[in-house]
Amino acid sequence: MLGKYFDYNATTPLREEVASILIDNLLLFGNPSSSHSFGQFAKEKIEEGRSQVAALINADSSEILFTSGGTESINTALKGFFFACDKRPFHIITSKIEHSATLELCHYLASLGAEITYLPVDANGFIAIEDLVNAIHEHTALISIMYANNEIGTIQPIKEMAKAIKQINRDIFFHVDAVQALGKIPINVHDLEVDALSLAAHKIYGPKGTGALYLKKGNQQLVQLLHGGGQENGLRGGTENLLGIIGFGQACALATEELLQHKHNTVALRNYFLEKIKHAIEQIEMNSPEIEGDVLQNTFNISFTNIRAEALSVLLSQVYGIAVSIGSACSAEKAELSHVLLALGLSEERIKSSIRISFGLYTDYKDIDYLVDSLKEAVTRLRSILPVG
Ligand SMILES: *Cc1c(COP(=O)(O)O)cnc(C)c1O
Repeated sequence: MLGKYFDYNATTPLREEVASILIDNLLLFGNPSSSHSFGQFAKEKIEEGRSQVAALINADSSEILFTSGGTESINTALKGFFFACDKRPFHIITSKIEHSATLELCHYLASLGAEITYLPVDANGFIAIEDLVNAIHEHTALISIMYANNEIGTIQPIKEMAKAIKQINRDIFFHVDAVQALGKIPINVHDLEVDALSLAAHKIYGPKGTGALYLKKGNQQLVQLLHGGGQENGLRGGTENLLGIIGFGQACALATEELLQHKHNTVALRNYFLEKIKHAIEQIEMNSPEIEGDVLQNTFNISFTNIRAEALSVLLSQVYGIAVSIGSACSAEKAELSHVLLALGLSEERIKSSIRISFGLYTDYKDIDYLVDSLKEAVTRLRSILPVG
């Protein structure tokens, strides 16, 4: 079953090593806020998880706040800063290719009076630092940019962006959505000079329902999203998700050990796949950047001329048991065009014929052979039966 899964950017399977740790701790029940031994043992587990998450991004444990996932982390950072900051007018800079969590949130903050700038991207999905710098003005209080894009894999020059922002105004709060980058590329917050970074466990082989927000030390002027007990430095009330945190920690510990090896393997798989699919299938166009370097090596967004992506993905799923994605997982339900591909300047026709394939830890060469063979058959079949257009 796993071998036919090519949708790792939507979510990843739980790693067996993580599952076994979860099973070992399933009966752990103490409330980490209790001072007796049951509570203190649970508290130790949470702090262990916190240090494992911190280690993967070279943060201090005290800078990690646990949440329920990427969306909550982004909400905590952006809403938390918006409500804590008394600067009005309040200007936010983000980009046109952000995850819907950020975009929807910006629409909401706009309804509360915030001014929003959505930066454009070039044909490869990159934001120009010059555009970012030019967008900053006296009311700019918050900037939120994604590290790696979930649909096309473009990796933004976050370090250079942070430098440029802080040179203009050190008080601008810079948040980075690193959900898709975590575990795929090295992240070092010491190096980055960002104020906050959002993370999620289920994109790196951990359990669903757990995430984290990195908040730079001395920078924790956020209003809490969840009022309640004083958990998570007073920033998120409520008894912690003990198992989720244990699993997230373990997933991060494994990623810390294996990141470079995993990246290396992914590059080899990528080259093998690209070579193979270009020979096998005619009239395809790559929407994800085909450059060395600043692109997630596991992510492929491909248009198949004269094919409807919905038809192709249903055929792949029903006949071949292959899971790919059309648009992002979150927008697959809606019949709207991908805002990311639109931002690249692609035609409606091309966007409607594109699917996303994303590899992961359990993808091997045999899977790629099967994928390309199946794609070739499915595309040939659809092109022969479907009228053009
Ligand atoms: C998946 C994802 C999110 C949302 O994370 P959840 O844990 O699903 O809430 C945010 N940003 C990016 C780039 C993502 O890939």
